[in-house]
Amino acid sequence: MPARLGNLLVLGGAGFVGSHLCERLVSEGHHVTCVDNLATGSLANIRHLMKTNRFSMVQCDVAKPMKFSGKFNQIYNLACPASPPAYQADPIQTVKTSVLGAINVLELAREHDAPVFQASTSEIYGDPLHHPQHEADWGNVNPIGPRACYDEGKRCAETLFFDYHRVHGVSIRIARIFNTYGPRMAINDGRVVSNFIVAALQDKPITVYGTGAQTRSFCYVDDLVDGIVRLMNAPDDVTGPVNLGNPEEFTVRDFAELVISLTNSRSEIVYLPLPTDDPRQRRPDIGRAAELLGWRPTISVEAGVRRTIAYFDAILQRPDRAYCVNQSNVELSQLSY
Ligand code: NAD
Ligand code: UDP
Repeated sequence: MPARLGNLLVLGGAGFVGSHLCERLVSEGHHVTCVDNLATGSLANIRHLMKTNRFSMVQCDVAKPMKFSGKFNQIYNLACPASPPAYQADPIQTVKTSVLGAINVLELAREHDAPVFQASTSEIYGDPLHHPQHEADWGNVNPIGPRACYDEGKRCAETLFFDYHRVHGVSIRIARIFNTYGPRMAINDGRVVSNFIVAALQDKPITVYGTGAQTRSFCYVDDLVDGIVRLMNAPDDVTGPVNLGNPEEFTVRDFAELVISLTNSRSEIVYLPLPTDDPRQRRPDIGRAAELLGWRPTISVEAGVRRTIAYFDAILQRPDRAYCVNQSNVELSQLSY
């Protein structure tokens, strides 16, 4: 059931997923306050929303305590870089964003007596021991590797959410999000979907890391946003964690072939070293989301990738409008753009 019209807070709202969530909430008639430090997000993602009188933007760091006038009815925390090159560029800030950010967001939820959503991740499962991944799996994460700033930060955030729930009665909602893609991904953020599409559209080499036998399951952003909104508006006892993702699973190599064929590209595949601790397989068990939220993805990978190709094609025609992550934040050697 949709929330009564309200005053909602979206942290990380200028990012890829956050901007789609803000758009959905504004379109439902809510007033949305977006908080973002623009580390990997962009004003270009939310400029159209700023033209409405139901959207405002505050530039600040969630790792620092926040104070707002007025009262929020719902709080969504998506603030955190999600692309491996972006979150590894400043790993200490990534941990602070997840851990101090969670504490600050949970304190806001207490103060405003508002339910709070946490964008957690399939990285909780690390290099998974079971396949597909079920919420009951505790995960297999290297705590000292280069991905740990993200994985362990998100794991600690889940811990904090449950501790605030048990100790202070905060109403929490946790989604473990699997690889999500779509329009407004930063053209240079280094994730596989944007890297492959941008390279294919320019007939440049497609960079497959390792043998490409590792798998991922790709969810279109509109489906994810629908799951997030359903979770937030579910009864209070639906705390999660709930997996949100599309179980359509591809090897990275097969995904490269799909992108080449959908773009009619002349790109060749080149093989580069596999990043440290790259999970070997990932597919969500979405039984819990189906049962508790009546949710399942509706957009096939082929349909979603076609839409994303159209988006990047338009962006490449107008490079002045391209939304790029601040290049100094990103390890350029990992980007194919
Ligand atoms: P993104 O990098 O596009 O968006 C993250 C947003 O958070 C950006 O706008 C960024 O500027 C902002 N941000 C980062 N650090 C901040 C800070 N300290 N203070 C305030 N704002 C800050 O990434 P995304 O793909 O939109 O991911 C959104 C959320 O979903 C993240 O929390 C991510 O961990 C989670 N998630 C995403 C995926 C995916 O495949 N897209 C998968 C799993 C989890
Ligand atoms: N990958 C790749 N080429 C690229 C970017 C990524 O082969 O140009 C691989 C990466 O090693 C991983 C998968 O694609 O196995 C998904 O990577 P992404 O960075 O999108 O997200 P992850 O699931 O690793 O967080």
